[in-house]
Amino acid sequence: MQNFDVVIAGGAVMGSSLAFWLTRMQPGLRVLVVERDPSFAQAATALSVASIRMQFSTPTNVAISRFGIDFIRNFADRIGQPEAGSLGLIENGYLFLSRTAAGAATLREMAAMQRDLGAVTQVLDAAGVQALFPWLQVHDVVAASYGARDEGWFDNMGLLNGFRMAARAQGARFVTDEVTGLQLKGGRVVSVDLAGAGRVACGVLANAAGTRASRLAAWAGIALPVEPRKRTVFVIDAPNARHPEAPLLIDQGYYLRPERGHWITATVPVDDGPCDVDDFEPDLHLFEDSIWPELYNRAPGFDAVKVVRHWVGQYDYNVFDQNALLGPLPAVPNLYFMNGFSGHGLQQSPAIGRGLAEHILTGDWQSLDLSDLSVTRLLDGRRVLESEVV
Ligand SMILES: Cc1cc2nc3c(=O)[nH]c(=O)nc-3n(C[C@H](O)[C@H](O)[C@H](O)COP(=O)(O)OP(=O)(O)OC[C@H]3O[C@@H](n4cnc5c(N)ncnc54)[C@H](O)[C@@H]3O)c2cc1C
Repeated sequence: MQNFDVVIAGGAVMGSSLAFWLTRMQPGLRVLVVERDPSFAQAATALSVASIRMQFSTPTNVAISRFGIDFIRNFADRIGQPEAGSLGLIENGYLFLSRTAAGAATLREMAAMQRDLGAVTQVLDAAGVQALFPWLQVHDVVAASYGARDEGWFDNMGLLNGFRMAARAQGARFVTDEVTGLQLKGGRVVSVDLAGAGRVACGVLANAAGTRASRLAAWAGIALPVEPRKRTVFVIDAPNARHPEAPLLIDQGYYLRPERGHWITATVPVDDGPCDVDDFEPDLHLFEDSIWPELYNRAPGFDAVKVVRHWVGQYDYNVFDQNALLGPLPAVPNLYFMNGFSGHGLQQSPAIGRGLAEHILTGDWQSLDLSDLSVTRLLDGRRVLESEVV
């Protein structure tokens, strides 16, 4: 039987980041990345809106993004692959709008915490928003928080491919196959079954299976509160509202950002809930029913709009507290989780891959203390609620 130090189930951005960091920290480590669909047609990584922000409500998520922005900005250098090129980071910032006094107070509190961690988030009143973005209507805005730099969007597939290229160059093995089961002995994973290649032995198994993470956890007798949730993303053309300099706007229930002369926008369905892992049918009605009226309320230029295209992606939604579930559980100490990112995993992949690799190699969190996001919080019912889930 073939034997690996670490087998990673899932080879999209999380699995590839982990493979990169493991092989960089310990050259010669035998790492196998198993990916069932290397076209990534249904992977959240490929279907992401690919944005990064400092504006999170928990210090750990801000710290993760502080590391992420530097890594993304200097990507080729950080992975040691000059040919990886740039990830085309566009730093237009994020603008969170609040329509209530209570919401404004929360924005102020969060901005102070974010600034303490090195972010540049400033809080604006309606007039301040109007001065920066005269094309917006602000009649109902009480306050907004804005990050003038370190926030924006970038090339998601460039990030994935760079991690893969660098991990391969450092000796990680990538195979097209599917993890279909695992064997436990004395409370540890000793081997996994691959649909094509049969059984392989492993020292550690990492779960980077995205929306399929719960299924893998169940094979080890663990109930992981992660389920697929559908998000329909619309690309729209609004000839009377062309603002390529616009930030990523987070408004009442929807978000909006410019993309190559068009806009990208999406919302959370009112009846949000789990979907089948293979369900990629778009919820087309969401644009006319929910998003368009809000866009027109925010800027008169959205009077004429054409949906140019749309796509569906699935969040690996953590129903417990909408934050990453990381590391091992005492019941199976060599099964590592990197799951439940709930729509903000792409930007977190550099820091999460590094953190998990350090934990696997040393038995604890090192460069960044990610203990807040440890999966063990499921055992003591400690929620790390992220109020800024979009
Ligand atoms: C519409 C949308 C917008 C988003 N916008 C943002 C954003 O702006 N910013 C941000 O940071 N994040 C965003 N995200 C979230 C982000 O894309 C994800 O959190 C991140 O890509 C998760 O990466 P992953 O590798 O964990 O999962 P995935 O990309 O889903 O990959 C999981 C992989 O595992 C493979 N796999 C599953 N089971 C097995 C198995 N048994 N054997 C072998 N392989 C298996 C799958 O084929 C898949 O390739 C968005 C997500 C969506 C859907």
